Amino acid sequence: MAERDVDLFVIGAGSGGVRAARIAASYGARVMIAEEFRVGGTCVIRGCVPKKLLVYASRFADDFEDAAGFGWSVEKPVFHWPTLIANKDREIDRLEAAYKSTLERFKVELVKSRAIFEDGHTVRLTASGACVRARNILIATGAWPHYGPKIPGLEHVISSNEALHLEELPRRIVIQGGGYIAVEFACIFAGLGSKVTLVYRGENILRGFDDDVREHLRNEMRTRGITVTCGHTVTAIDKQGDEFVTHLSDQTQIAADKVMFAIGRRPNVMGLGLDKIGVKIHEHGGIEVDAYSQTSVPHIYAVGDVTNRVNLTPVAIREGHAFADTVFGNKPTRVDHADVPTAVFSEPEVGVIGLTEAQAREQLEVVDVYKTSFRPMKATLSGRQTRSFMKILVDGISGRVVGCHLVGPDAGELIQLLGVAVKMGATKADLDATMAVHPTAAEELVTMREKAMTWRRQAAE
Ligand code: FAD
Repeated sequence: MAERDVDLFVIGAGSGGVRAARIAASYGARVMIAEEFRVGGTCVIRGCVPKKLLVYASRFADDFEDAAGFGWSVEKPVFHWPTLIANKDREIDRLEAAYKSTLERFKVELVKSRAIFEDGHTVRLTASGACVRARNILIATGAWPHYGPKIPGLEHVISSNEALHLEELPRRIVIQGGGYIAVEFACIFAGLGSKVTLVYRGENILRGFDDDVREHLRNEMRTRGITVTCGHTVTAIDKQGDEFVTHLSDQTQIAADKVMFAIGRRPNVMGLGLDKIGVKIHEHGGIEVDAYSQTSVPHIYAVGDVTNRVNLTPVAIREGHAFADTVFGNKPTRVDHADVPTAVFSEPEVGVIGLTEAQAREQLEVVDVYKTSFRPMKATLSGRQTRSFMKILVDGISGRVVGCHLVGPDAGELIQLLGVAVKMGATKADLDATMAVHPTAAEELVTMREKAMTWRRQAAE
């Protein structure tokens, strides 16, 4: 027997769930949201936000060094990891409180409990055993780090969750993975002074990104002293005293103070009781949904990482908002997952939108490629060995810009703005017609006149 009735029950108070709850409540719905850990979800508590704070911390090392070329003398700077972690935690507490007060302001009832399905319209709160009956249910349970096959010593491995809470900065760390989380943490630890080895089973890091970006970033990471080992996996981890010996598939061994895996994340679908209510799981492991985030059970919806579409915070938020507009605001809204700009907060940073060159060649008849690599102006006086990279891909027939790939300072900021132009359908001629802002790195984007190459589909292809 359900003890309460609501219009909407949201499982998971992360990016997607909180937005959906708030917007549905603003339309007058009675909303309850359950969270088993902390309000804010992955992004706020153990993802984007704490990570970016660590990224800022890690970049000061370069700033101190670079200052010398501009006439500053800085005494040997000293870094204190516990101060960083304590300050970061204080900021996360503040953000969590802000999320809670938003829910309160919109009269969304928050329950601190795990929630699972009792039946298609009823959710059970495992903390109290109470049941809540809901007209609609939104699954916004996110994803969780995946550790891969069981190998000896796997119990010693940490994920990004624990990496954000270490008691001390590891002197040496082995990170397995080649995606953006592995790469970002490799750069964070290297910037803070750790000796970092990145181990990735594929042929190059950042699978799915443009090949030139992958190559450029890998070289930059190596220049910064990070050992990038591709084509191998970690096969075992031995604890020997205070250190861990990591065994790789090429029979080499690396001693380290910490071993972290960032090899992927799995949608949180386990134990929710989805099978008994008939919610279908897609073959990619996420909940199967249509363009309105509706599952195979019409009154149950799912948004964010649990659907394994585009696993990014702004996408989860947009999906949550669109769900609430559709179901409670009488405004059926689809989320456009095309041309999502994104960044990798590596050092240097990566910002991308649209097609990679390989994808453009698959989809278009003619692809014009513009690219440039240059020394950032600041590096001239600092003497830092680093280069920026920019690539613009243009549909050779319509002239439309179909992809932009940037590696360099503030690439995340740049791609957000360039993303507006790309989303609006900007052509290369539009970029050319835009006056440069001088002296900036971004001016390269509007002054690239020379094509690096034109690719044409051959008749047989
Ligand atoms: P989440 O934010 O994960 O929220 C799900 C919530 O549901 C969690 O709080 C969980 O505790 C709760 N929950 C799960 N099951 C239950 C249950 N049965 N009952 C009650 N509660 C439950 N994205 C970016 O856009 N930019 C970045 O820079 C970025 N960096 C990242 C860095 C890291 C290290 C990680 C791990 C992720 C990063 N992401 C980034 C991805 C981003 O965090 C996610 O895409 C986003 O948080 C997904 O939101 P969500 O609402 O789907 O799920």
